Amino acid sequence: MEPASPDPGEQPWSIRLRAAGLRVTQPRLAVLDVVDSAPHLSADQITAGVRSAIGAVSTQAIYDALNTLTEQGILRRFEPAGSSMRFEVSVGDNHHHLVCRSCGSVRDVPCALGSMPCAIPQETEGFVVDEAEVTYWGLCADCVSASTPE
Ligand SMILES: [Zn+2]
Ligand SMILES: [Zn+2]
Repeated sequence: MEPASPDPGEQPWSIRLRAAGLRVTQPRLAVLDVVDSAPHLSADQITAGVRSAIGAVSTQAIYDALNTLTEQGILRRFEPAGSSMRFEVSVGDNHHHLVCRSCGSVRDVPCALGSMPCAIPQETEGFVVDEAEVTYWGLCADCVSASTPE
């Protein structure tokens, strides 16, 4: 484990953007606020949230912000099969995701096996593995109870 460093999630977004060498722009700040307040949103949902927060912003500006923030490791992007991309603030905790096959809801679960990469295949073919992304599929509690007769 790395020695504990100050949690970058506690810093104001502008500090975090500058630390990554990024200009602080209103769309970037708004995207971060929206994703931080509700993890696992799709780009469309983020676009709607940003517009209701700061008014007219082009879809392109929001997608550019999402791409840049993901490339810089400030956001984490994942894409459950058959679903749209979802975004969350990256906290480096290597958590995994539970995805409901019925309603598409997503929950975080801590990794069962420790820090990144939590699982290494028996044969890596010369790859240096640094991350294992795990999606657990099933039915969420609401969908289970909805499908179970009383
Ligand atoms: Zn469900
Ligand atoms: Zn998550």
